[in-house]
Amino acid sequence: MKNKERRVEMSGGNGEQKLSKKQLRELKKMLEDKKGELEGDLNLAVAGCDQHCDIADRANKESEVRFSIREKGRKREELAQINLALERMKKGTYGQCQHPDCESGHISFLRLRAIPTAPYCLTCQCESEGRKR
Ligand SMILES: [Zn+2]
Repeated sequence: MKNKERRVEMSGGNGEQKLSKKQLRELKKMLEDKKGELEGDLNLAVAGCDQHCDIADRANKESEVRFSIREKGRKREELAQINLALERMKKGTYGQCQHPDCESGHISFLRLRAIPTAPYCLTCQCESEGRKR
């Protein structure tokens, strides 16, 4: 009963530590860089054709546009995730697992460096993906 709590506390202390300021800065920069990149892409997609395409070009663009709508949706989604992550950073909850039943509570720096927008720690991510099936 009590034993379990203690074990969780200890494993939390060893592995999945809170992020240091330096790590947070690094992740924030990654998020902001990515955000700038995505916003640039989305603006380009909006500016797209009109200015200098003749009609033949335009026909070609049609299929590109359809593709880019899907692409755009994906980028928008990514941008939204980044904004959420930046929001969590502002609130000081960034790096904490958002799963209500999470045991470890913190997302490891390595995981965040791979996926800076990750809202869940690896354990919870695996569980929620497992449940979907
Ligand atoms: Zn978790």
